[in-house]
Amino acid sequence: MPVVRSVHLRGGVLLARIKKAAVIGAGVMGAAIAGHLANAGIRTVLLDIVPKELTEKEKAKGLTLEDKAVRNRIARTGKERLFKEKPSPIFHKKTADLIEVGNLEDDLEKLGEADWVIEAIIENLEIKQSLFAKVEEVWKPGIIVSSNTSGISIHEMVKERSAEFRSHFLGTHFFNPPRYMKLLEIIPTEDTSDSIVSGMKAFSESVLGKGVVTAKDTPNFIANRIGVYGLQVTFQKMLEDGLGPDEVDSVTGRAMGRPKSATFRTLDLVGLDTFVHVSDNVRENVEEPEEKKAFEVPDLLREMVEKGWLGSKSGQGFFKKVKTDKGKEILVLDPETKEYRPRRKLKAPSLEMAKRAKTMKEQLRALVYADDAAGRFAWYITKKVLLYSAARIPEIADDIVSVDRAMRWGFNWDLGPFQVWDAIGVEKSVARMKEEGETIPPLVEELLASGKKSFYEESPEEIQAFHLGGELRKVEEHPKTIDLARLKEQGKVIKSNRGASLIDIGDDVLCLEFHSPKNAIAADIIQMIQHSVKEVSENYRGLVIGNHGDNFCVGANLMLILMEAQDQNWPELDLMVRQFQKAMGSLRYVDRPVVAAPFNMTLGGGVEVSLPCDRIQASSELYMGLVETGVGLIPGGGGNKEMLLRWMDGVDPKDRISLQPLVNKVFETIAMAKVSTSAEEARDYRFLRREDGITMNRDHLLYDAKQQVLALDAAGYRVPKPRKVPVVGETGYNTLRLGAYGMLQSGYISEHDYKIAGKLAYVLAGGTVPEGTLVDEQYLLDIEREAFLSLAGEPKSQQRMQYMLTKNKPLRN
Ligand code: NAD
Repeated sequence: MPVVRSVHLRGGVLLARIKKAAVIGAGVMGAAIAGHLANAGIRTVLLDIVPKELTEKEKAKGLTLEDKAVRNRIARTGKERLFKEKPSPIFHKKTADLIEVGNLEDDLEKLGEADWVIEAIIENLEIKQSLFAKVEEVWKPGIIVSSNTSGISIHEMVKERSAEFRSHFLGTHFFNPPRYMKLLEIIPTEDTSDSIVSGMKAFSESVLGKGVVTAKDTPNFIANRIGVYGLQVTFQKMLEDGLGPDEVDSVTGRAMGRPKSATFRTLDLVGLDTFVHVSDNVRENVEEPEEKKAFEVPDLLREMVEKGWLGSKSGQGFFKKVKTDKGKEILVLDPETKEYRPRRKLKAPSLEMAKRAKTMKEQLRALVYADDAAGRFAWYITKKVLLYSAARIPEIADDIVSVDRAMRWGFNWDLGPFQVWDAIGVEKSVARMKEEGETIPPLVEELLASGKKSFYEESPEEIQAFHLGGELRKVEEHPKTIDLARLKEQGKVIKSNRGASLIDIGDDVLCLEFHSPKNAIAADIIQMIQHSVKEVSENYRGLVIGNHGDNFCVGANLMLILMEAQDQNWPELDLMVRQFQKAMGSLRYVDRPVVAAPFNMTLGGGVEVSLPCDRIQASSELYMGLVETGVGLIPGGGGNKEMLLRWMDGVDPKDRISLQPLVNKVFETIAMAKVSTSAEEARDYRFLRREDGITMNRDHLLYDAKQQVLALDAAGYRVPKPRKVPVVGETGYNTLRLGAYGMLQSGYISEHDYKIAGKLAYVLAGGTVPEGTLVDEQYLLDIEREAFLSLAGEPKSQQRMQYMLTKNKPLRN
């Protein structure tokens, strides 16, 4: 079959070759998918139907149904939503420039210019079938076509199409919202060409950053089949036990290793109508009466949908926000009275024990085996979901790994069902299930008959998973995976302390991993930085700074700073800041390349660690900012100096007209504690420079960072020379202060903000030297440290630090 045009080789992997895409349907999913393709740098045409009627606004403007503005209205509105939605579906407002809008009557031939056409229209088989008939008229061999359906049979949609078209056709099921949800289910039919399946998998992983699971063409595929079953079981059990959605949510959220939104808040977010739709679809398409029954939508839910209580989008669902004398309050629907009442939590000793557990295994065991209301509830729904998942193999997927990944990536569970089963103990739980009269699926019987105790077996080298038929098979990982935990088990740790470890990641490259609480920087991390620099200089090609935590680094350890400041331990604090500055400097001036790999929250000290590195290889999801003013301080680890260098380096010191606007930019970024909403946006603040790289898939980040190290080394790395920076001096200092004074006068900032702004202005202006003076780095570090220490001594700054430590949000005082 001639499909060569569709795939190409990149880094040893065959990827689908997609430079241009087309999305049909500009609704909730279509527009957001187009947005995410644009995030990945792919030009995308977004098409929808031509409206049949004019809006009042269009009539007022004198437009007719023939005008382009009207004919493209639906797709254009879809694109415009990308700028409004929160969290944003796009990385940067300019991202949307890559999206061209049109309509299915005038622009159909544009589909013939795309490498990939994705259908995301209304969930209706006949409408989708007739759309694909139209698409085939302009389709050319080589163009990949897919559907984003949540549950309609993929092969049914194209059964009337030519064999060649069908060989290019598959399901690509994104989860909402596509930018943030990791899962993409790829659903080939029997006719889909293998090279297209593997090419799309590789493309979606590397270019779109998705976690891909290959699913079978069965009702609602993997994640929704199991996820919706779990939600139904929970709903039905709640009614049976006479509990409320609030009480159930206190069991089925973090306590069970699932998202905070648990069951009913998740349903409110998804939309109850969507949930009913998906549930009905499974019920209509499965055969066994017992399974059909499990997907029967409870009357209460149907009533809610009829009343328009659809969840967040309609302002009320299981929960409802109301205004009371006390302010805003969230009420919950009582399933008995069908009225909203104040919320309450289920109180049970097992929930407390689960909270205190150190590992997920301990936590789940503490909960599901407890004999109290929460424990019994958790046991029942866990049992049901585990049995259902095992019974669906090989119907929905051939292996347990796909099911576990689908539930982790599509429903944000910490562990997939088979991992949960291993955690609570297969033998123990199955014995209880049998006592309770449950039928045990063949997969589980086979496992136990083979004498094995768990679905997964881990060794330092690999993980193996149990397969139907009794075989253990290696869990395949993407070639770009670097798993620090595994490397540690393999004895690759060079040195380690409580806050950080130095790990050999192969090819003579080291990785400095932070693992302190919240990855906050304290003396142990500073020590490990110093050690890393020495080690890498003596024995290795280069260093990556990265980790697998929830966030790269949330800053310096504030508690320590506050304690020293409250005790007025100035020499100690001075030494701490000096060492911090020195360690950051050593990252810059070590004679080997250093690459930082930040992701998610990268704040304060986390930014200061990244800035001096030779390169940053950032995750596309990067929330980066120097936020010290929020805790009454300014950056103290060289952050001001590095930002000045990023903006002013190379500018002619005599060019006063250029200098001031640049320093204004730096001032604004730090004084207002700006945080990027993506790596693309971090470029605007120059936290990232042009030569820095962005990785779409966080699982590939350390690998990509390591490649940067190797490339720098291979190109003949040289130690950077110390630099001098032109500063605006006294004149510029006054200008900056005047600006801040204006903000104080207009009530925009507080007296204390003004004080902090003054100190920051002094540092960024380079003190009171003459305008245009070239200063060296140490001078800037010295004035930065002085300003930092003096602010740490301010009672109001200490109040800010205290507030952040206790309330986890900034205080405006
Ligand atoms: P939506 O209702 O928001 O958007 C559907 C779009 O299809 C609308 O813009 C509409 O104008 C257009 N449309 C209607 N009739 C059409 C026709 N005859 N020809 C062409 N376009 C037509 O729906 P959505 O939530 O974006 O869902 C789109 C698809 O994605 C569905 O198949 C749905 O099952 C699937 N899906 C939805 C979600 C979700 O959470 N919403 C998640 C995954 C998959």
